[in-house]
Amino acid sequence: MRHEAFLRVCASLGWLDGRDIREAPLADRELLARFHCTSYLDALETSARTRIVQPEIRARYNLGSMECPVFEGLWERVCATVGGSIFAADLALEGYLPFHPGGGTHHGRPDRASGFCYSNDPVYAILRLLDAGLEGVLYIDLDAHHGDGVESTFAEDPRVHLVSFHEEGRWPRSGTLKDAHGPRTINVPLPRNINDSEYLYVFQEVSKRRLRGREFDAVVITCGADILSGDPLTSTNVSNAALAAAVTACIKLSGRAILLGGGGYNPWNTARLWAKLWADLNDFAIPAILPQSTTDILASLSCDLIDESDFNSAWLTTLSDPSRPGGIRAVCRARVVEACPPPDLRASSSAR
Ligand SMILES: [Zn+2]
Repeated sequence: MRHEAFLRVCASLGWLDGRDIREAPLADRELLARFHCTSYLDALETSARTRIVQPEIRARYNLGSMECPVFEGLWERVCATVGGSIFAADLALEGYLPFHPGGGTHHGRPDRASGFCYSNDPVYAILRLLDAGLEGVLYIDLDAHHGDGVESTFAEDPRVHLVSFHEEGRWPRSGTLKDAHGPRTINVPLPRNINDSEYLYVFQEVSKRRLRGREFDAVVITCGADILSGDPLTSTNVSNAALAAAVTACIKLSGRAILLGGGGYNPWNTARLWAKLWADLNDFAIPAILPQSTTDILASLSCDLIDESDFNSAWLTTLSDPSRPGGIRAVCRARVVEACPPPDLRASSSAR
């Protein structure tokens, strides 16, 4: 599993010790019911326990589908993922900077599973922050897919600001520029094959024009590894160096931050990104070439979605990607302008 690979890589580099790892309490049904309807929780718990999904349950709740299969340990995984995000919010409120790589299930809806998300842990983290009295929470989603479930939950809540940078035209195909629900929602669809220079240009310009200089009580970040070059479900040319730079900039937007994982269908990319972020957060030096013990862990991973011809041997021997610079296409410059309309236009779109 991705999470286990991340932990093993960090341990092999001496980056874990007892002080840094906390075990979160599992979320219980009462907590889960804060977002989900009872009938969905009943269907999820029963399907997970029996691993049998009736056709009407599949049709109504999207459980047992190709997109959201039912597997052993599913219920416990949901409780751990949500519990982890709630605990992360508690840690952030205490002044820590928590990293919950298992989090970032941003597609889940109150009444159905969606896009391999059976719940929506970022929602619970944000709710915990709001319950604590915070009135300006920023959610930034860097996953390659639009953070639709989080956006639909908080689009009408004046306390929450929502930003999603995602690949254009990808499932769930929402998050277009026109979808934005007003001045607190910013959707930035990124063109295919975007390189590091373009990615950081769009990210920095949108951040500068729409976010910097504003006061946020907390920022919740979902940093999916599926935006990285080499992911089998997306088409980008982004390195983990560029994504890590964007994550660092997001953290600086508030004095209180929570870092969640997200998607990632290249297991080497995902473990390497998470380990790199862990090193960055802790000021650990990343070796240019990994020791053999770390390489052995990465070499033990496998993925049916990636052809041998697309495999990059550097995924076994390094954590940091070389940057992937390039020219900035006109479509990227236009995208910044489209995502950052003048304030009067934003006000009128909000009134619609
Ligand atoms: Zn994704």
